[in-house]
Amino acid sequence: MTTKPSTDTDLSLESGGSHTRLVLSRLCLLGIPVHAVLILVFGLLGIQVLAVFNIASTAAWILAWALLRRGDVKLASAILLVEILLHAIATAQVLGWEAGFQYYLIPTITLVIFLDVISDTFSVLLGVLVAVVFVVLMGTERSAGLGTGAETLTAMKHVNMGMTLVALIIISYYYRKSTVVSAHRLGEMARTDPLTGLLNRRGAYEMLEEYARLPGVHGGNLAIALADVDQFKALNDRCGHACGDRVLQETGRLLRKGLRNTDLIARWGGEEFLLVLPGSTAREAAAICEKLRIAIENSTIVHEGSDVSCTVTFGVADYQPGDEIEAAISSADKCLYEGKEAGRNRVVVRPASVDTE
Ligand code: GH3
Ligand code: MG
Ligand code: MG
Repeated sequence: MTTKPSTDTDLSLESGGSHTRLVLSRLCLLGIPVHAVLILVFGLLGIQVLAVFNIASTAAWILAWALLRRGDVKLASAILLVEILLHAIATAQVLGWEAGFQYYLIPTITLVIFLDVISDTFSVLLGVLVAVVFVVLMGTERSAGLGTGAETLTAMKHVNMGMTLVALIIISYYYRKSTVVSAHRLGEMARTDPLTGLLNRRGAYEMLEEYARLPGVHGGNLAIALADVDQFKALNDRCGHACGDRVLQETGRLLRKGLRNTDLIARWGGEEFLLVLPGSTAREAAAICEKLRIAIENSTIVHEGSDVSCTVTFGVADYQPGDEIEAAISSADKCLYEGKEAGRNRVVVRPASVDTE
């Protein structure tokens, strides 16, 4: 999996951002101040070599942060990985294993293995490399000339352990979030028709099952309508498939616009839409469909300089609580067929017996 460079500063996963970009950006907000403070700490302790090293480290984290803002996740990841490795090695050589700077390598293993800008194999190899560096550094003695006392080193170890845990929590939290958001996005895609943006048949069935499970809601009434574009094959032949697609989009938009928020609309098949109107009898729904029919009949789209319009036939039926939902859909379909037989561009309704006077 690869991530396209993007200059979009909206890092959120919901808007399609890469989880690596998001998690690294958040880590930068921790890494930049931590390395800046270390310049001071090592300066005060008189360990000039590490103070200077941390000036370079702070610059590297700021550079990585700026690259992430611009969307260059690959280069930012490379800079951060090199910095973290060199920082662990340098501090271990000067302060020894006791100061605990190598702990940052542990969350780094998780970080590189989750990197979504490199291949699976490369990410695992990098994870192994970081682990090897950690093992090699194990037990490294501090440099002979170091004046810093054992208590200071122990204090450093505790702070480093604490910061490592914070880094681990940040990384784990964003991967958890990324998993949840990805699953949600996939679920949405599986339920949505890409052409019209409406629910597809699968999404509609899920919603219908909900309605069927709660028969008493919305006053017990539920009307089902099927709307089918008339002579759509001929329209496609006349003005082309792309034009047909636009007609479907516009028809879907007009249907959605004319319904209440609580009503459901789905693209049921090619040029067929399913409408579910909770709280309405079939007769009431037929009146709404009549308005929709007129709105569609009176609307035109302009395709390559020509006006294109279509008409729609509706079949409407009541859903009887306790019945199979398919029975109501099948009734609406029969009405639709009757409407087509009778000349199209009309609403045919079949109310349930309780509604007939
Ligand atoms: P009727 O009035 O009896 O409904 O006739 P019709 O031509 O609308 O019905 P038919 O079932 O014969 O043709 C439906 C056409 O819809 C055939 C198919 O190519 C077209 N179609 C289905 N899905 C799409 C789509 O996504 N885009 C476009 N442009 N056409 C589609
Ligand atoms: Mg049709
Ligand atoms: Mg059809």
